[in-house]
Amino acid sequence: MPVAEQKTEAPKKFTPYEPAPGEEYMNEKQLEHFRQILLGWKQELMEEVDRTVRHLQEEANNYADPADRATQEEGFSLELRTRDRERKLLKKINETIDKIDEEDYGFCEACGVEIGIRRLEARPTATLCVDCKTLAELKEKQLGG
Ligand SMILES: [Zn+2]
Repeated sequence: MPVAEQKTEAPKKFTPYEPAPGEEYMNEKQLEHFRQILLGWKQELMEEVDRTVRHLQEEANNYADPADRATQEEGFSLELRTRDRERKLLKKINETIDKIDEEDYGFCEACGVEIGIRRLEARPTATLCVDCKTLAELKEKQLGG
């Protein structure tokens, strides 16, 4: 069984955007840049989902021995969790593409500042600036005990 790769966490294939001096933040060129990143990422993810499904189907046919089946079922639940994560991520990517279409992309949902091109390239689905994200995580930790 292949080792779980982490490529679903963030997109890989893109050239970092170099804005011209004084270029307006989230102009059409920048929005298009992020749309392409998100579409490429989505494509990667969907291929991965396909592979996961195929793998599950193959596994289901291959095991007859009960001991093997126990191992297989562990593998199943792991893969199902992976699929669940992929599905949630796909949903988030689609929502983000919608926001780009509405030209409502790249600004912090909590305080309204520019999230920033570099941060968005690392995490294109980010909806909070670094400060608000840190604050949200702190709150989450406190609530979660
Ligand atoms: Zn903020």
